Amino acid sequence: MYDIIIIGAGPAGMTAAIYARRAAKSVLVLEATGYGGQIINTPDIENYPVEAHISGFDFATKVYEQAQALGAEFVFEKAVGIEDSGAEKTVITTKNRYTGRAVILATGSENRKLGLENEDALVGRGVSYCATCDGAFYRKKTVAVVGGGNTALEDALYLSDLAETVYLIHRRDQFRGEESTVARLKERENIRFVYNSTVTKLNAEKKLQSIEVTNQDGTVSTIEVNGLFIAVGRIPENQNFASVMDLDEAGYAVAAENCRTKTPGIYVAGDNRVKDVRQLVTATADGAVAATEAIRYIGTLK
Ligand code: NAP
Repeated sequence: MYDIIIIGAGPAGMTAAIYARRAAKSVLVLEATGYGGQIINTPDIENYPVEAHISGFDFATKVYEQAQALGAEFVFEKAVGIEDSGAEKTVITTKNRYTGRAVILATGSENRKLGLENEDALVGRGVSYCATCDGAFYRKKTVAVVGGGNTALEDALYLSDLAETVYLIHRRDQFRGEESTVARLKERENIRFVYNSTVTKLNAEKKLQSIEVTNQDGTVSTIEVNGLFIAVGRIPENQNFASVMDLDEAGYAVAAENCRTKTPGIYVAGDNRVKDVRQLVTATADGAVAATEAIRYIGTLK
């Protein structure tokens, strides 16, 4: 029996592990893939205090090493369910069952897809959801980025250093992402802005060759591209845990700043929680709050 089981080894989950270990609680962190969560795809973090520039991967590695050094146990298994029996919670993974006194759900989110016919089949053959992972394959080539949030803007900026031409396709004419990044993009000569448009078809033989783009006015055009980077937001990964917490209409876990769900002893931290500001700093803050709440809750158990 662990004191605290944390599901998800992103910034929120790993920060929770640090706080829980510093309070001498036994901690199991379950993670489906690798540590770090979505931040590992960020090439350069400029808005987290202390370091003016650090890559997402380096940041995640430092936090992982810090949590490990404090004694958090990491197991790389996908959690698929949770059972609540009051003072004992059971987390079910694809391989095992683990019991704990408290659970922190820091599951983050997964890529939203465009939903185009051959989108899945073309992943790795022209379609990508991660510019920092795959951008190097498109050196001196033509790529397009879809989306208007910070991820799309930063992806376009990153790719413009590598690719010959970058099309930035957004369904509106106003970006959701930061003005300062938009201003930097506008200074780049190899970025073409395509507003009020959506990607409606992927044309490929073995690899992606071109995309069909439909403007709000009904005009359809074809853009020849070697790569398409899809950055249209993320979907919270809460579906497997809906029995212990309420979800809003978009699937985010309903919890206030204290990170409590409706189930005593079960907390939610990071991007899968309802919140106004989804940033690295708010994710790590959630980790600290959720762990502190879990530690207090354990103290109330007999
Ligand atoms: P996001 O902010 O939710 O933006 C998603 C974008 O995709 C929006 O512009 C949206 O258009 C568009 N979109 C959604 N569905 C679409 C569809 N089916 N077809 C075409 N376009 C579609 O997502 P994000 O950019 O991944 O960012 C997620 C969070 O992380 C945000 O809070 C962001 O600020 C944060 N973030 C921060 C940093 C940083 O601080 N350095 C870096 C990356 C991300 P509409 O605008 O029309 O809705």
